[in-house]
Amino acid sequence: MLGIIRAKGCILYDEDGREYIDGISSWYTCMYGHCNDYILSHVKKQMSELDQVVFSGFTHQPAVELSEALIKILPENQQKLFFSDNGSTATEIGIKMALQYHFNHGHKRNVLLAFEEGFHGDTFGAMSVSGLSVYNGPFEDFFIDVERIPVPNSDNIQALLAHLKTRLQTEDIAGFIYEPLVQGAAAMKMHSASGLEQILGLMQEHQVLTIADEVMTGFGKTGKHFASDYLRIKPDIICLSKALTAGLMPMAITTCTMQVYNAFYSDEIAKGLFHGHTYTANPLACTAAIAGISLLQSDEIQKNIKRIITSHQNFEKEIKKHPKVLATRQCGIIFALDLKTKTERYGSLRDKLFKHFMDNGIFLRPLGNTIYILAPYVISQDEMEKIYSGIRSALNLV
Ligand SMILES: *Cc1c(COP(=O)(O)O)cnc(C)c1O
Repeated sequence: MLGIIRAKGCILYDEDGREYIDGISSWYTCMYGHCNDYILSHVKKQMSELDQVVFSGFTHQPAVELSEALIKILPENQQKLFFSDNGSTATEIGIKMALQYHFNHGHKRNVLLAFEEGFHGDTFGAMSVSGLSVYNGPFEDFFIDVERIPVPNSDNIQALLAHLKTRLQTEDIAGFIYEPLVQGAAAMKMHSASGLEQILGLMQEHQVLTIADEVMTGFGKTGKHFASDYLRIKPDIICLSKALTAGLMPMAITTCTMQVYNAFYSDEIAKGLFHGHTYTANPLACTAAIAGISLLQSDEIQKNIKRIITSHQNFEKEIKKHPKVLATRQCGIIFALDLKTKTERYGSLRDKLFKHFMDNGIFLRPLGNTIYILAPYVISQDEMEKIYSGIRSALNLV
């Protein structure tokens, strides 16, 4: 365990005075840099006005303002927001929405579809749909009913669509949950928008609600505000957290279409979606989120995103020829490379690489044989070059 005492911009400072470049944005959260002055100033002001209030029967200005700002940048079919407080509950609520949507319509649909190797969080519904079973062994007997499909690629897409066409004849599938374009916990595995789009099209034809888990991909990481912006077919439900609050406070939002919302809007109390957490829509978290969204839309951040993309593309061209590199991939500001070694998610190679990076003042978290970068948008080119050179020297350890 390493004690971190301070963070500013892209740098973490430990208790012995050492510095580390935060190459994974503290799990994809602090995209505008740690302790960002603009965000802090807004949150400090909010802190002395309204710290916390029950979000049941009450509302407040930061929640209203955030809703308006978010709806402006979300895919245009997303009209209603459901607040909660972390990424797992964002997906849990998405799953509950999909199941209850059909229930409220008087249909029995009890199965969910999900991608192999997906990760959606650590609560029970979220664990059930997550395909990375290393985490979930002791709990599998208690899961909800989930069927898995592989992520689409040009080799399997026709077979996959054929399978789904047959499978969807039995009308028991309530929803399909997926990480659009990039599967974070599966070591930044990427798939193309066109395959996913065809799957979503089929789901829509069969009234299967589509749930985009954008907890990781949301707020600019893929180069657009949301990964779903790359797809012509928009999801029914979107799950957001992580960079939503710019790394300052935990919060989450599950968004949906009017059609989904209308299935719950009724005088019958049992038609409502009962899910409320104590810190739901915390005013300070909402304030951080409003400030974050305004930074995301700024010219400065958009320019930084473009710079990082170009920088990654150049690095990719160089590094993919390295004899130790098996494969490279990049989507927006996310870059990943696989090493030519056997894959052990938490093996000794991973530990050796981690130590190498930390010794060089770089915080990266290799997964199995994959090294990936997901740095804050405010990273300087010098800092990025330091990460690249840390990766170059790491390849000599393999
Ligand atoms: C991190 C993550 C979650 C879970 O979010 P927590 O806030 O850690 O509960 C869910 N889905 C995806 C895609 C994630 O990356």
